[in-house]
Order: sequence, then structure tokens, then C-alpha cells
Amino acid sequence: MQLTIFRGTREIGGNCVEMKTANTRIILDVGMPLMDETGAPFDSRTMRGKSIAQLLDAGTLPRVPGLFDKSAPPPDAILLSHAHLDHTGLVQYSRPTIPVFLSQGTSKMLMAGSIFAGQSGLERNRGRVFRSATPFRIGEFRITPYPVDHSAFDSMAFLIEADGKAVLYSGDLRLHGRKPGMARQLLQAVARQPVDVLIMEGTHMGSDRKRGITEHELEEEAVQQIRSANGLVLAMFSPMNVDRLVTFYKAAHRTKRVFVVDPYAAFVMHVVSGQCRIPPPTTQKGIRVYYNRHFERTYQKRNLKKVHGKFLADRISIEEILRERDRHLMVFRPSMLRLDFGDTFPEAARCLYSSWEGYLKSQEWDDFKEKLKAAGGDFLVCHASGHIFQDDLVRFVNDVNPRIVVPIHTMEPRRFGQHFRQVRFLKDGQAMNLTLAQEIEQ
Ligand SMILES: [Zn+2]
Repeated sequence: MQLTIFRGTREIGGNCVEMKTANTRIILDVGMPLMDETGAPFDSRTMRGKSIAQLLDAGTLPRVPGLFDKSAPPPDAILLSHAHLDHTGLVQYSRPTIPVFLSQGTSKMLMAGSIFAGQSGLERNRGRVFRSATPFRIGEFRITPYPVDHSAFDSMAFLIEADGKAVLYSGDLRLHGRKPGMARQLLQAVARQPVDVLIMEGTHMGSDRKRGITEHELEEEAVQQIRSANGLVLAMFSPMNVDRLVTFYKAAHRTKRVFVVDPYAAFVMHVVSGQCRIPPPTTQKGIRVYYNRHFERTYQKRNLKKVHGKFLADRISIEEILRERDRHLMVFRPSMLRLDFGDTFPEAARCLYSSWEGYLKSQEWDDFKEKLKAAGGDFLVCHASGHIFQDDLVRFVNDVNPRIVVPIHTMEPRRFGQHFRQVRFLKDGQAMNLTLAQEIEQ
């Protein structure tokens, strides 16, 4: 068995890993980079109008044989660990004959992202939904997906076996979420057999990375911040982060505020409610749906009449929200400031920002905060990371006890060497033969 990380050995995001045996080739994640070669945030608009050959030449698409162009036979399958763009964003450029294996939740989140967030969904008939913790075969590979706790709904790690070897691909995960049982289940499963290679995400591997708060601590923080607010509270986060939806829903419940969601969040709650502990949006459960202007103006053109009809019974108007500002917690996004609030925040609004702080470094956000302040409001970061903290990572890797650790999804792969003896540092595109690697190690 041979392993090649085509992208992700020394950056966060853009994951693309190839595994191959004599007769089968599979690809783990086809992510969009988060940064360009200068270190600036990657702008996907730069891809517009370019051919596959141009994108390969520019290095935007990793040079995986036959994945995007016809230079080689296509890989047998693509496996997606979760519905974050840095793991799925380039699937749309891959050859449409390649089947895509994914969890039910990832399939639903890709659909939601394509309807509401302008992301490209999966082409019809390409998706193959697998069952978690149930092995399936692709050619010479046996694959078992294990659910992991992460900021995208229904994320998976993959145990991949072939040629008498076992590789565990972590995907993105954390141990400080609402579902620590998932990591226990994964560790129990891999305890039954030796893991030859662990491909491990290291987002938080770095000298300046401190341990952050847990999802439960975040809920307490949100409750405090909502309780001490005098006006409308606006919560900003990605609705694909279903655990965060749960956190804010519970915080609203505990502070006796109505949880007001937009059609995107309402749709996500609707499609996942059978699969996890969140109710579909209904007034009886303290949830109302605010049809924002953008949705109202575009739903017909976008063929979303069915979605529009779905939440009418639980609809709330902006007037009703503003009449009793201190009784509502509202899911919010920056575009609503102009369209729904006429470019002026309601008095004394409190904005709880619940995503990675790195996204805040822009003029747009400075202006946003300025307008909030001008209306007597305040801006608070209220966030728990989706990625495993350093000390948890060390514990996790030691528990898996692999023969070799290969860092991925990290800015500081060398840091792994300070914690583990058995690290193998790969470069993007450098193949690693598992049989040989083990001989060298012994
Ligand atoms: Zn992720």
C-alpha cells in the first residue's frame, strides 16, 4: 500500500490524500486551500473562467493523476470526511465519473450549502452514502468510517485496510465537544488491531496555541453573555455547525429568549432533527423562523418555494423581533445588516461571534463593529474550536499507538517531532510506501 499527501503536509486546509494498492486507488478529501502561496486567504473567485489545465498549472488543483484531467485513469473513489470547503471544495472539479463516498450528514450539509451558501453541491448520482462504523469495500480496500466530533455535522475518520496494513485518517476532530463518546468508540475499535499509520490533523500544533474552552463551557459563556445583554442578541456562526446550533438553542432556552433562526439554519435543523438531539424549528419549542430579505427576494428565482412554504407557520417578522428586543436571540449574518436593518443596528444590540477569529481581520468587519458600537451595541467573541487541542492530541495519538504518525492539516508539522518518536514528515506529493517505511523503522 502506498500513501501520498498531495496537499496538507504544511498547511491548514486543502486536504487531498491518495492511497493506492496494485489495483485500486482512492482519494481522501478534495479540499480547497484556505491560503494562497503568499499566505493570504485563498479567494475562490480567482478560479473562475479557468480551465482544468490552467488550474493544475497554477497549483490550485493538486496534481493527482487522473483526478481532474484525463492524463491517467480516474481513481476508483473519493471519500469525504466532512462538509467543510477545505475538505470538499474542489470535488466539483474532479471527473464526474468518480463516485463520492460520504456520510448521510455530510450529504445533507453539502445540499444545504448548495442551496443557501452558494456552494456547489454534489452532482446527482455521484454520492454513495455509507453507514458509520460499518465496513465497506472499494476494490482492494476495506474502509470503516467512524464518527468524530467536529464543527461540521456527521464528520468521519476513516480506518483503511489493504495488503495487511491499516491506516487511520483522522479527518478533523476534537475531544472537547458534546460527544466525547465518539473518540472512545474509535479508540476501542482501533485497539483491536495495530494501526500502521495514523494521518493526524494538527491544526492546534504550534508554539503559541493555548488550550481553549469546551463546547459545554461555551454554552455557559453564551448564557452569561445573553443574560447580561439589554437588547437584541445576534449570534453569528455557520449553521452547518449543528453542535453550535444546539449550544445557542440551549442558551436561548435557559435565558428564556425565543431562538430566531434564518431559513438556512431552519433548513439544517429540519433535515438533521431525526439524526440528532435538536428539534425541528417550531414555535412550541421556542424557535421561530425569520425570512430574511435576501431569501424573500430570491427564493422564487432559485426554485425554493418548497423551502419557503415549510416554515410559514413559525414565521416571525422583523417588527415583532424589534418590539421585544430583549426577548430574542437571533441567528445573524453580516448581509442582513444592510438588507434587513437598513444599515443601522437596533439600539444596544449584542453580537456574539462564534467562528474562527482569524476571519475577522478585514475592513468589512472593522466597519461592522464600528456601526454596532455607534448604536450602543457590543461585539463579543464566543467560540469553541472544532479542532483537537495540543494536549488532547498527544493523548489521542498515544492511545491509538500507531507505528508511524504522519502530520496533516497543520502549519507546524515539526512540532509533532517534539511529542512523538515515530513521526514521518512527508512533503506534498511525496509517496510513502508502507511496507518499506516499516522496514526502515524496524
Ligand atoms: Zn473541518
